[in-house]
Amino acid sequence: MSTLLKLEGVQVFYGASQALFGVDLDLAEGEVLALMGRNGMGKTTTIHTLCRMLPMRYGKVWFAGQDISGWPSHRAARLGIGLVPEGRRCFPNLSVTENLIAAARPGHWTLARVQDFFPRLAERRDQSARTLSGGEQQMLAIGRALMTNPRLLVLDEATEGLAPTIRREIWAAIGALKGEGYSILLVDKALSEIKPLADRCAILARGEVVWTGPPAALDAEVEARHLGV
Ligand code: ATP
Repeated sequence: MSTLLKLEGVQVFYGASQALFGVDLDLAEGEVLALMGRNGMGKTTTIHTLCRMLPMRYGKVWFAGQDISGWPSHRAARLGIGLVPEGRRCFPNLSVTENLIAAARPGHWTLARVQDFFPRLAERRDQSARTLSGGEQQMLAIGRALMTNPRLLVLDEATEGLAPTIRREIWAAIGALKGEGYSILLVDKALSEIKPLADRCAILARGEVVWTGPPAALDAEVEARHLGV
């Protein structure tokens, strides 16, 4: 499989404080990679950097064969990086359908397909986004990313704060996208939910990738050291 995304030696600072200390990461076309680690270890910083929302001090990001290190985020998005941000970030005063249409770019995912994929978004089509439940807002956030017809879907804590039944629905939707061969980068802390989905995990600790491998190879010691509460 060819490499879709590659980060090499990525260092990011917030002012004088360094958050990433040389992150190396790669994701193959069609792969589901879970980026894991405890709070504050650099997961969100890593994905904001690869989406080009944060400047890097050192390092490179390649996507779809291009060096996108100096690109602005809108250009990276146009090349096919679709971010589902933490906290969902839909337009609260637009309707569900308006939110979806605002994100649209030509491709496989049309309004009808997204509504078919998440029937709840069809049922709620005329409601403003702010009136949706947390789970519905998450579906809308994923729907918005799909409407951009990305080559890579990046999900930051997709099920955080949601009730167990809704979490299962969201994981099932992500599983269906995996089944269609989508390339997906997941940031999450829910190891048990990630395990059946991810082809590979990468664990971040203090701004560095300290372990990568298939979830089945995660042993109790690594888990306790880097993921346990
Ligand atoms: P969480 O699971 O809590 O979201 P995370 O693994 O995504 O954590 P980051 O949010 O990437 O971690 O944070 C990495 C480090 O950078 C932390 O030490 C954090 O305090 C710091 N940091 C994050 N955002 C900022 C910011 N805007 N300004 C200053 N420091 C920041």
